[in-house]
Amino acid sequence: DVQKGTGSWDNARIQPYGPLSLDPSTSVLHYGQEIFEGLKAYRHQDGSVWSFRPEANAARLNRSAQRLALPALPEETFVDAVRELVRVDEAWVPSGEGESLYLRPFMIGTEPFLGVRPSKQALFSVIASPAGNYFGTVEPVDIWLSDTWARAGKGGTGAAKCGGNYAASLIAQLEGDAHGCSQVLFLDPEREGAVEELGGMNVFFVFDDNRLVTPELTGTILEGITRDSVLKLARDRGMQVEERAFTLDEWREGKRSGRLTEVFACGTAAVIAPVRRLLSHDEVIGSEDERPGEVTMAIRRQLLDVQTGRAEDTHGWLTRLV
Ligand code: PMP
Repeated sequence: DVQKGTGSWDNARIQPYGPLSLDPSTSVLHYGQEIFEGLKAYRHQDGSVWSFRPEANAARLNRSAQRLALPALPEETFVDAVRELVRVDEAWVPSGEGESLYLRPFMIGTEPFLGVRPSKQALFSVIASPAGNYFGTVEPVDIWLSDTWARAGKGGTGAAKCGGNYAASLIAQLEGDAHGCSQVLFLDPEREGAVEELGGMNVFFVFDDNRLVTPELTGTILEGITRDSVLKLARDRGMQVEERAFTLDEWREGKRSGRLTEVFACGTAAVIAPVRRLLSHDEVIGSEDERPGEVTMAIRRQLLDVQTGRAEDTHGWLTRLV
């Protein structure tokens, strides 16, 4: 971790995993100045260890920091912290198919005080945990439409990766769980019936005329790094890519006409997950026997192959850690 008071970031150190000790008046506990990132380190066949687009995570952390009135962190400090931790914990980087070391960088306001203002002190830290094989089977998932709760509003923190966004979405997740859905779909609070994103993933729609549609970044959606990578890979494949408002009506109609052939979600944790059905109190869109689509699986394979060193890194997405 590294700490910041009134000067620069300093006191960089690596220490054994253990509890943080915080004064009960520490600002993060009361005013929620907390932001985080998620990325993975992959072991390649020759034993080397690489991470996928860590500078994009560093840049997003800084955008989140700005929104939450936390201090900026130099990109090199972010990447160095990740690299040093992975070097020390190298033995924990697994080498099995689809396995990785999940890295969780986070920043919190650490000044002890009561009163609503930005903290003058901050802590940046990275923890790590081996991530299992998401990919043994790629069973399509059902998702639950959150029509009661919004994840974000105009001018809010929707584009930031802050704990508060997740706290606000947990109640919807509980409802999804109760209906057998592993993810929740949130709608755009500004545009009637427009799809936004899932609780922890961005969403894509594949049409039979080689088109890929995903909700545009309106300031209320998290700018997924996987989302950005999928858009680039789809363009490489010659697909026509559309970032725009996508409505439930289009989803319904696309399924009815058969022109909407695949729906998938993407994010660092699961990389790419085929979507089977959208469930809500009123209806079900999609059918129970939906199989993972061809485009979904091809983009997923391509992304995984780059991440694990089995395909050429033509976009310069990999950073060597060990
Ligand atoms: N949206 C939300 C709300 C998320 O939590 C995540 C996971 N970070 C994503 C999208 C996907 O982002 P990424 O591809 O950078 O993991």
